[in-house]
Amino acid sequence: MTESRTRRGVRGSVWRWYLVVGFVAWGLYLVLPRGGPTQGLLYVGLGILVVAAISGRKELEEKIAHQALYDPLTDLANRALFADRLKQAIAGAPRHGRRVVVLVLDLNGFKAVNDTFGHSVGDQLLIEVAARTVQCVRPSDTVARLGGDEFAILLEDAGVQEAVGVAERLLERFRESFDIEGQELFIDLSIGIAECPSGSVGAEALLRDADAAMYTAKRAGKGAYEIFHPEFHVAVLKRFELSTDLRRAIEHGEFVLHYQPIVTLREGTITGVEALIRWIRQDGRMVSPADFIPVAEQTGLIVPIDRWVMKEACRQARAWEEEFSDRPPIGMSVNMSVRQLQDARVTKEVQKTIQESGLDPARLTLEITESVLMREVEATLAVLNELKTLGIRLAIDDFGTGFSSLNYLRRLPVDVVKIDRSFVAGIASQSSEWTLARGIVRLVHELGLETVAEGVERADQRAHLQALGCRLAQGFFFARPMEPDAVAALLAKTSTRSA
Ligand code: C2E
Ligand code: CA
Ligand code: CA
Repeated sequence: MTESRTRRGVRGSVWRWYLVVGFVAWGLYLVLPRGGPTQGLLYVGLGILVVAAISGRKELEEKIAHQALYDPLTDLANRALFADRLKQAIAGAPRHGRRVVVLVLDLNGFKAVNDTFGHSVGDQLLIEVAARTVQCVRPSDTVARLGGDEFAILLEDAGVQEAVGVAERLLERFRESFDIEGQELFIDLSIGIAECPSGSVGAEALLRDADAAMYTAKRAGKGAYEIFHPEFHVAVLKRFELSTDLRRAIEHGEFVLHYQPIVTLREGTITGVEALIRWIRQDGRMVSPADFIPVAEQTGLIVPIDRWVMKEACRQARAWEEEFSDRPPIGMSVNMSVRQLQDARVTKEVQKTIQESGLDPARLTLEITESVLMREVEATLAVLNELKTLGIRLAIDDFGTGFSSLNYLRRLPVDVVKIDRSFVAGIASQSSEWTLARGIVRLVHELGLETVAEGVERADQRAHLQALGCRLAQGFFFARPMEPDAVAALLAKTSTRSA
């Protein structure tokens, strides 16, 4: 980058000097008395001006060529130049016995910086990012800005091992903050690495592979790198296909809710239900949430989906409350995704939904998985406390699967702890699960919270849980997730009106 800049600069000043000398010679010719040596000055001056014009034009041509190949903001190679260099490297690799490896870098949270601090700060940040990246490679390597906040590096005769070295250096360097217009900004990277094993792979394919690896790294969380494996490509394709279909599903309203009863362990009486989403595709196939919720979370589509779930569940709960007003109303549990918790407006939105449905907020329980709670403790805690002011109940879902410290439970404004299926599954056969489950139940009760055992499938599991003092359960042993009509039939059985 700097090299090309200086070269251009030197030549630029040379033609300007020619111009000056040429005009001086011409000026002298004009002011000096005519004849003799003065005549020579005219020719020398004209000659120098011609040279100036030629080199000036050459510079202009170079400038145009430069613009076509370099990113104007960062002065790094652009996508076209990068693709060209990559092609050459791949073509020449077998002949020279060289390896070709590329890294694709994507900034996390760049959009937020742009939105919050404005484009001028965003631009400055990109320039700084470019500079930092260049510092982490050798001068012979090519660093490019592919567009937006995506960068790429082509390492000259290096393999995956060297690429990993560069990736680690980059991640280390990006842990330091950027100082942009007095703002201290932190930005981290996701890096994908792909190596071309032979000359048979095209430049486009190699970039695409590095991209796929980068997305895998992104999913792994903050500041990570990943090396391409062939199966990533299939995963990316599938995910893309699914996200396109999901978008359509939202527009066409292809979702329904099923409800799984939450019952008392002892009597099996229904006290509430958990709303579980189902996607009925146009061909009538039902897709399990386990297959599309992760994609919906990655693409952000989970936000409109869960907004609909919350609305529909509240409406349904209120409808049952009215229909079976002669029996104690049941509770409604709704799953919440991380994305919702990260949205500053979540409390307002939930409040609006509850008000519109007319449901008593005390009937609504929001379930949040433990792993999500543990991720960003302080930020999440603030949102949970805010949600609690609405008068709703909060449950920790899948408890025992995260890195939960039981002590941490004391700080959370939760009402219910749902003991994960894996504990229940092993409770009868293995004593370690039993011991753990006992510990959890004891502490939870000590804190005055409610426990719900998840995934109860057999009578012996029920007996063990009951012995531990667990009061509520959910599982195939009692009832599977069912359509709304089936829930209504269940409620009708325990209603005095129909009895
Ligand atoms: P979850 O919240 O832990 O929901 C319980 C899951 O366990 C449900 O799977 C349910 O069908 C299943 N299950 C219940 N009893 C048993 C049992 O006895 N044995 C076994 N093996 N499984 C049992 P489902 O409906 O496939 O949902 C999977 C996950 O998808 C849910 O796990 C939840 O994390 C997520 N999910 C479901 N609906 C929604 C939703 O509306 N929004 C969001 N964000 N996530 C949802
Ligand atoms: Ca749940
Ligand atoms: Ca669960």
